[in-house]
Amino acid sequence: MKTTLRIIPLGGVEEVGINCTVFEYGQDIIVIDLGFGFSGSDLPGVGWLLPDVSYLEKHKNRIRGIVITHGHLDHIGGLSYLITRLGSPPIFATKLSCAYIKDRFREAGVRGIEIHTIEAPKQFSLGSFTITPFHVVHNIPDSVGFAIATPVGTIIHTGDFKFDDNPADQKAVDKKALRRFGRDGVLACLSDSTNAEEAGHTPSEREVSKIIKGIIRHARGRVIFTSFSTLISRIGQVIFICQKYNRKIAIAGFSIKKSVKIAHALGCLTVPDKLFIDLKSISSCVDKNLLILAAGTQGEERSAMTRIARGQHHLIKIKQGDTVVFSSSAIPGNELAIHKIMNGLIDQGAEIMYEPVLGMGVHSSGHAYRDELLEMLQLVRPHILIPIHGEHYMHAQHRELAQRAGIKRERCFILKNGNVLEIDEKKQARVAPKKVVSAPLVVEGGKIRILKQDIVKMRQRMAESGVCIISVSRAKKKQGKTIEVMFLGLFVDKNKIFETRNKVQKLIQRYGLSKTSKIKIESRLSDFLLNKIGKKPLVIIV
Ligand SMILES: [Zn+2]
Ligand SMILES: [Zn+2]
Repeated sequence: MKTTLRIIPLGGVEEVGINCTVFEYGQDIIVIDLGFGFSGSDLPGVGWLLPDVSYLEKHKNRIRGIVITHGHLDHIGGLSYLITRLGSPPIFATKLSCAYIKDRFREAGVRGIEIHTIEAPKQFSLGSFTITPFHVVHNIPDSVGFAIATPVGTIIHTGDFKFDDNPADQKAVDKKALRRFGRDGVLACLSDSTNAEEAGHTPSEREVSKIIKGIIRHARGRVIFTSFSTLISRIGQVIFICQKYNRKIAIAGFSIKKSVKIAHALGCLTVPDKLFIDLKSISSCVDKNLLILAAGTQGEERSAMTRIARGQHHLIKIKQGDTVVFSSSAIPGNELAIHKIMNGLIDQGAEIMYEPVLGMGVHSSGHAYRDELLEMLQLVRPHILIPIHGEHYMHAQHRELAQRAGIKRERCFILKNGNVLEIDEKKQARVAPKKVVSAPLVVEGGKIRILKQDIVKMRQRMAESGVCIISVSRAKKKQGKTIEVMFLGLFVDKNKIFETRNKVQKLIQRYGLSKTSKIKIESRLSDFLLNKIGKKPLVIIV
């Protein structure tokens, strides 16, 4: 068993987000990425989702390092919450990713963590693992994938990637290196599956840039441009276009401001002098000479875009002639919030530019389409494929594609979070019967908690069916009990309140008011209310 390599995705193989994969050999453990994820509408009130790292906590003395592919939050967002729980192991990341991580640590008050800057293709070793970073194209600069040499064979981890041979501001993917790894023999490849359903090839950033240029150049009034704050390559194009067409830029949103500052300080973004103006002085700028870079492309509750769309932004009020460009795609689950924002903007007189309207891209995904995924497999020719970064329906598409690259179905492993894939020196692979995760962690109000299904269910019930509070108190002069009924979040008339009160009275007479009988009454009353008002609210007796 000593010679078995264990690959354990702790997150990111049942969703887009929470990316974190463990590699274990003998006494050595390395972790690739430690991200967080957006919670969906099925988890009301939950802030962020984090991977269940209890397995790593148990073995923290064996963690040789956490290695980061790039600076997006689904890859680095979990670090500031979890690094100390893991015994503060050293972090290895490229220059820009290091800057984002340090900034998050500063904000969270995390101190004393060793952060090492790595650079493709410089090799480094952590215990039994020798890691060679290779450059990939993604929509944030300084993104890398890894070739991880282990005693059992070489593993390729692609990170988030696409093949853009003509990227706007970065080098192309290092295909030479990938081909070389393939020639030397690759045991397994963990590959980005986000767009495994999309036929063809991602449009080049240069094509996207041309379309954005057309919009900014021909807009009659102000342009409000929204994209992800870490989509530095896109922001770089906007800066270039604004400079060319004489538009000043004002930033609305702390996240973009910070992201631009970090990328500029590291030389990943050119920011010409005097191009940027303060948001407070936008009224002094002629409309056709102004572009506002606004945060909140996903309809986040407190973001600048949401406040603008609701007419609640203290400095930006939409007016006729404004053009709003959504240069991003919706993260699954955020569509409704984004549509609400668009409606709000249109109602106030703005013109909206987004992909379906234009019939062409104002955004290019940072994740490879099918042709590119196939090309990756043909270059590295892995014995085993492990689709990552996505849900299982995406992974199944990736597996189907892999067969065209000669990888047999039984050598494609669609894993669950916490599955342990064991590979021995004879390249025999099997999924261990026991998973090492139970429930993901969540961040609520800045605190980390274990996601408990009963709490989630209770919240869902309250949101869907409201609450019925029954207050029972002993009346004076031994006249029995006073019962008060209150409904929250429900349409209930006086009659129904009266009927409910009578029902409670009868139930108390029948069962009494002990701890166990309370539960029985709550349940009976719930059924009664379903019958009477068509809803089964959460019943609480106090
Ligand atoms: Zn990414
Ligand atoms: Zn990602």
